[in-house]
Amino acid sequence: MKRLLFTLAIILIFSCASSAQTLAPFKGNAKAAVSYTFDDGLEEHYTMVLPVIDSLGIKATFWIIADNIDKRIPMVGHMPVTWQQLCTIADHGHELGNHGFTHTAVDWISFEEGDREIERNDSAIFAHTGVHPVSFCFPGNGRPSANVKRVLEHPSILGARTYETGIGGDATVEQLDEWLYNAMVRGEWVVGMTHGITHGWDYFKNPDVLWQHLNHAKALADSGQLWIATFAEVNAYRQGFTETATYILPRKPRKVTQRGKRLIPYKSWDGTWCVDAQRDIKLKIKY
Ligand SMILES: [Zn+2]
Repeated sequence: MKRLLFTLAIILIFSCASSAQTLAPFKGNAKAAVSYTFDDGLEEHYTMVLPVIDSLGIKATFWIIADNIDKRIPMVGHMPVTWQQLCTIADHGHELGNHGFTHTAVDWISFEEGDREIERNDSAIFAHTGVHPVSFCFPGNGRPSANVKRVLEHPSILGARTYETGIGGDATVEQLDEWLYNAMVRGEWVVGMTHGITHGWDYFKNPDVLWQHLNHAKALADSGQLWIATFAEVNAYRQGFTETATYILPRKPRKVTQRGKRLIPYKSWDGTWCVDAQRDIKLKIKY
């Protein structure tokens, strides 16, 4: 039975890989894709954003800084989410992305220190939530090409945010809707960046703008014109992975399912977590 399942899995993997060339530019043949990303793991993302996107059925990406969560370090007047809140966010199908362990801009540090920022954050997020991030967001958006190349070569990173549109501040509903309209005309994948909702960095002068915009985006998605998905999901799709790439590990897993070659589990810094030959996950929380 196990052998049969293994064979079927192999067939599935190869059939998905061979059909990669025939994939539409965006899932469902939508005209454009949008990923809504929320930076810095702020409490408002849990208290205000999560209920709205859950009610609309929109999946989003949250860029997490583990050290801030552990030490309860505020960001521009914001408390970070708790690990428990992050588990809920992940359970609801949203992406937990890596934003560096201490939010140190990678262009200020050596490549090796940059790797450690990625791996310590990965390890902490994985240890607390069972989710291993596969996307990276450059802290402070500092991203010289050499650093971008280095990050993209990291075995745990499937994609990194290298461009975005800040959708907070004094943007109007009309401006944000026009942003999506232009993406559909040009056939683009656009990435929205948001920090604070009611205060803090780049907060919405009127948070209703965000809620109204998300409603409009949802209507476009329902009509088949727009694909709204997490950063990792669009990335995986565009790189030819299966539409439902398994990039999130099950909570407290014993076995790891792996469909993408870039998602090979690796022995991370200091033996924080590793996967042995039988792919039994061994957790050693030390960071
Ligand atoms: Zn940030």
